[in-house]
Amino acid sequence: MEQVDTLVVGAGVVGLAIAATISEHQDTIVIEQHAQFGEHTSSRNSEVIHAGIYYPDNSLKAQLCVEGKALLYDHCQSYHVPAQKIGKILIASNESEIAKLHALVAQANNNGVCDLRFLSLAELREKAPEIKAVDGVWSPSTGILDSHQLMLSYLNKLSQHGGHYVNNTQFISAHYDGEYFVVTLKCGEQEFLLKCKTLINAAGLFAQACANNIDALAAHHIPPLHYCKGQYFSYQGRHPFKHLIYPMPEQHGLGIHATLDLAGQLKFGPDTEFIDQLDYTPWEQAKPRFVEAIKRYWPKLDGTRLQLSYCGIRPKLQLQGTQDFVIQDSQQHGIKGLINLFGIESPGLTASLAIAQKIAKQVCAAHE
Ligand SMILES: Cc1cc2nc3c(=O)[nH]c(=O)nc-3n(C[C@H](O)[C@H](O)[C@H](O)COP(=O)(O)OP(=O)(O)OC[C@H]3O[C@@H](n4cnc5c(N)ncnc54)[C@H](O)[C@@H]3O)c2cc1C
Repeated sequence: MEQVDTLVVGAGVVGLAIAATISEHQDTIVIEQHAQFGEHTSSRNSEVIHAGIYYPDNSLKAQLCVEGKALLYDHCQSYHVPAQKIGKILIASNESEIAKLHALVAQANNNGVCDLRFLSLAELREKAPEIKAVDGVWSPSTGILDSHQLMLSYLNKLSQHGGHYVNNTQFISAHYDGEYFVVTLKCGEQEFLLKCKTLINAAGLFAQACANNIDALAAHHIPPLHYCKGQYFSYQGRHPFKHLIYPMPEQHGLGIHATLDLAGQLKFGPDTEFIDQLDYTPWEQAKPRFVEAIKRYWPKLDGTRLQLSYCGIRPKLQLQGTQDFVIQDSQQHGIKGLINLFGIESPGLTASLAIAQKIAKQVCAAHE
């Protein structure tokens, strides 16, 4: 039976970052069930490098987003990953939202994001022409990047350190013998076994399904999974946007905001909608809702120029309230060498390197 120190399940941005980081210290393999890496959430998001504004005090999201942002900008520079710190403006569209805007600035300060500043109305008009807002806050450290190039750079780093990426290979189950995991993998119709000391479940929307097939893991350690779809409409034609524009956040997401990609393409979204099946088909019927939400801050929107684009699905762990990332190790579930990642929704892309460093520390400490 083949043996490896660390097996990472799932080649999304998080699994790839983890594998690339751990491969500096250990023999590492990352497997992907599909022919291509990053086909799920990692290629169906806003590609925004978040500043770390919204997340509750002492949450993993707050800590790992702020750390991850700094690591990510450095990494993008070193590995020539296209990224731009274009900044974003948080806006209050009416008087009743001003208190919320102040609360967000206070939250950002608590999280160590201390570079936000209120804009004068003249600055708002200059930075965000045509945007209807009674108040606005500038976030200079927010940026955008090319997520596909980022994943490629993690793959490069992995191979530079002698690690391996294996596609078309599905995790089926794992048996824990008290020291090692004997993992059953499937490649085409062929099943084979691989032995590893550390098993990292970074399977995103499939993390619960994988966890269910690890024999030693008690079911009560596996949180529920709720699919929360978020879709986008792109805008065809000239537009006045130079920075990202975010209205006040909603319960499950950041509100239908305006983002730009590195080519200057404007898009709006994502909205939030809980669904029962993993289905990436976008819905044209959502358009009136988008038009209404966008017109609140961009009254001049020409709705006929909105084109249905793509959607992503958030791995929510609960239907109500704020949730944090769940990174489970032996302290939680009692199984040495097993790390499960659940609920890695936004800002998982931004936080990917910080998540990877946190896990690499845990893995290396366990081997000392
Ligand atoms: C609509 C939306 C917008 C977002 N916008 C942003 C943003 O602007 N900025 C930001 O920081 N974050 C954003 N996020 C969050 C970010 O995209 C995710 O946190 C991140 O992509 C999660 O990566 P992952 O590697 O955990 O999961 P995934 O990308 O889903 O990767 C998991 C991988 O595991 C593989 N896999 C699953 N099961 C198996 C198996 N049994 N065997 C082998 N392989 C398996 C899958 O095929 C997949 O490739 C957004 C998310 C959504 C949904």
